[in-house]
Amino acid sequence: MLLSTFAWAQQMPVKVACFIQRTLCATKTEDMGHKNVCLNCRKAFNMGTDYNNIREADCPECGRPMILMSHRFRPPKKTDDKKWLTVEYLIENGFKYQHVYKKNEAGQLLNTYADYPNNLRDAKEFVDEYKEQAQKK
Ligand SMILES: [Zn+2]
Repeated sequence: MLLSTFAWAQQMPVKVACFIQRTLCATKTEDMGHKNVCLNCRKAFNMGTDYNNIREADCPECGRPMILMSHRFRPPKKTDDKKWLTVEYLIENGFKYQHVYKKNEAGQLLNTYADYPNNLRDAKEFVDEYKEQAQKK
């Protein structure tokens, strides 16, 4: 099925073929993509998997700069102020939903990922606990 799709794609104009190939790849490696997030519009735009094309961009709707985030970010409902405030707080403190490793009691990093918090109070604890894993601006 896949092979015949590619053969079919080869006979098409390059642009169309590229688009189809991108779409196929995007569904295969979905968990490698990035998102651009506009905190102003409270929207996430999928950036796909083209690593040559990952860049900060302005929001297509309001024109403000968006924030490049991990694909793991799940945008809250637009009206969910508390969750969006939590998201903003995490971003400000260097947590853009990248992987963060849990720690044991001695402070050593474990091979498991910490869950991102969903409210501001937990987010403050989270930032404090994992501050050395924050992304530098
Ligand atoms: Zn916007």
